Amino acid sequence: MELCRLCAHPRLQTKWRLNAVTVGRCETCGFVQVKERPTPGQMKRLYAQGYFERGKYVDDLAWRLEQKRRLAWVGLCGVPRGARVLDAGCAAGDGLLFAKRHYEMWGQDISEQAVEMARAKNPELQDRLQAGPLEDADFPEGYFDAIVMWDVIEHLWDPKAALAHMSRLLRPGGRLCLSTPNLGSVAARLLGKRWAFMTPPEHLCFFDLNTMQRLLADNGLEMTHWRSKGKWVNTGFLLYKLGRVFPGLINPALQGFLRNGPLAKAVIYAPTFDVAYVGSRLLPKSNDAWRVNHVQGAVSHGGK
Ligand SMILES: [Zn+2]
Repeated sequence: MELCRLCAHPRLQTKWRLNAVTVGRCETCGFVQVKERPTPGQMKRLYAQGYFERGKYVDDLAWRLEQKRRLAWVGLCGVPRGARVLDAGCAAGDGLLFAKRHYEMWGQDISEQAVEMARAKNPELQDRLQAGPLEDADFPEGYFDAIVMWDVIEHLWDPKAALAHMSRLLRPGGRLCLSTPNLGSVAARLLGKRWAFMTPPEHLCFFDLNTMQRLLADNGLEMTHWRSKGKWVNTGFLLYKLGRVFPGLINPALQGFLRNGPLAKAVIYAPTFDVAYVGSRLLPKSNDAWRVNHVQGAVSHGGK
């Protein structure tokens, strides 16, 4: 019997079947999750070398803008320059290239190949990069001032186990900053299974403000910042994706032009507001709020 991976309740309502898996919603806590655990073989195929080589951000400019936004977010969440930061789920190390100018960066990723690529790009950080699951990350307790997880948590089978370990690695008062698709966004609600981020089994978990607060609180973290943002996208790529979400909207003959023509070089801000940026703070272990299932206090909304 499958249990909710957030509250351990045994009843998951089926929302829909998609890509040969079932997406379910917990009747108790509302957490939306894929029901069938991918086999190690499936995971291996999903995250084969090509996954990390493929340009996630088709365009350099869009990628640089995203890096700038992440750095600004980390600053807003109270992480000072020079802090010791773990990039949990560092993939092929492109983010490290930017972040290491401002922070003492360390990295962890489940993929050996990705970590090898990250080491090649950041040779001076070689000894600070580890391959393996986040819950096995081998660093001393309380070692980090901050941990960042950019677009990672939605890929994890057991986000609670990963965050439990991350909170062990943070010093008291340390910050955990992350981004993940926002299931509570208007885009997600309107588009349902056609939402751009509804891509099981690549994505296994789908959070909104409530379930994210609960995940953090269960691991001794207090949410301090939450903001749902749009993204910078390549114009041609955006139209191409729209054409796929709404078949018939865009003439198939146009699609090649959109992917490769002059529009493929232009970057615009897409106000989809469906990516959540989250900031949180590790509470002292003696604090009564530890292991309470909800977070008290206001959540502030950071800048763009
Ligand atoms: Zn639940």
